[in-house]
Amino acid sequence: MSAEIIPFKRPEPPAEDDVPHLEGAFFCMACDHEWQGVAPHQPGPLQFGSPNNPVQCPSCKAHRGYIKFDFMPAEDELVWSCDCKNQLFVLTTTHIHCPCCGLKQVFPDFSK
Ligand SMILES: [Zn+2]
Ligand SMILES: [Zn+2]
Repeated sequence: MSAEIIPFKRPEPPAEDDVPHLEGAFFCMACDHEWQGVAPHQPGPLQFGSPNNPVQCPSCKAHRGYIKFDFMPAEDELVWSCDCKNQLFVLTTTHIHCPCCGLKQVFPDFSK
């Protein structure tokens, strides 16, 4: 048995439609099928798999597939960053711990 080997290499220069892609869990509202999917990253309300732009379900073929979890915060949402540029933290009961540089931070109280 033999199989064709397809090179997984980005063309140089990149094609005009060569955009970053998101990968993650998708689910179908029509048949409850779940799968790992890939969709071109399209910032804004028309992101593939978002409520405004569902994708086709590979099982029932309905265009009712949605991203199961948010991949990232909304474009206009402020994101907390450490001085070391890390944006993923360990939350404790008293502070935010940066696992990249060890800095302990106290989140400001925005309610005041
Ligand atoms: Zn389906
Ligand atoms: Zn840090």
